[in-house]
Amino acid sequence: MRKECSIVRDLLPLYVEDMVSADTGEFVKEHLEGCEECRMEHDRMKLPQERKESGDAADNKEAVAPLVALQRKLGRKKVQTVLCTVLFVVALFVSAFAVLSTPVYIPYDEELFTITENEDESVTIVFDERVTDYECSSDAHIGWVGVEPCYEIEAWSTLWNKWISKRDQQFVVIHKVTGEDFSVYYASNDGSENVCVYGEPMTSGGVITLPRLVLGNYFLIATVCAAILLVVLWAVRKKATVRVWIERMLYYLLSYGIAHVIVTGFGSSTYSAQRDFMFILFLSILIYGGILLARSVYRERKEIKELTKNS
Ligand SMILES: [Zn+2]
Repeated sequence: MRKECSIVRDLLPLYVEDMVSADTGEFVKEHLEGCEECRMEHDRMKLPQERKESGDAADNKEAVAPLVALQRKLGRKKVQTVLCTVLFVVALFVSAFAVLSTPVYIPYDEELFTITENEDESVTIVFDERVTDYECSSDAHIGWVGVEPCYEIEAWSTLWNKWISKRDQQFVVIHKVTGEDFSVYYASNDGSENVCVYGEPMTSGGVITLPRLVLGNYFLIATVCAAILLVVLWAVRKKATVRVWIERMLYYLLSYGIAHVIVTGFGSSTYSAQRDFMFILFLSILIYGGILLARSVYRERKEIKELTKNS
């Protein structure tokens, strides 16, 4: 072996590890190009080195995989938490608005409105400032067929109009439709008889506008469905795929129940069924979305905990 060769052999371990100065590196490189024996020795040293490095990378990938999964889960959890919070905040605002805009019907008294007959035979009803909204319906649901047309007025105020957005004085003009005389009734919506405030009172006696019970019925149906689903859930408790769907339905019914209580309180009768029902539907969807997200966040959190425990 030449003298240069033996120097190069001594340097090779360091050269392979790239731990020599630039000049020494240059010297070894030049020698390797010209000396086959040393080059073979170098290759022998370099190969296991390379293999080891690539092996490390694979190991690394395996070690990193759970970390990537964890990061992904953390990201998903973050997004879901934000969405969930947004839904519940919106639900809170909608609930507040639903409560604030609940009609508080005003029982009849003589100062509630003034009625004036106009020259064109129409009638103007001007409400006093307690009234922030009214409804005037030519009342089919009273059902006096063949009798002169009859109008029903109800008037209310809301906390919203009292505290937040004041309204101008309310009035309504009622025209003769078919040339016939008409009468106007005021519905207090408090269980008392409607009062005839204009025209000839109907001879058939008193009329009471009854509260609608439909929402109470819906609530009852939801409760019964929930009870049935609970039994079914118990029966299929071992079938994960079916169980998930039944749980989802139960969550919706729960959301509906919560929304019902928020909008109508625990009472089931209402004089404004349509309005209340729209609020209940809208709110129940918001709450449902919130519950599903909250549940998903909870699951994600559990999985993240397990992942961190394992690694
Ligand atoms: Zn050599």
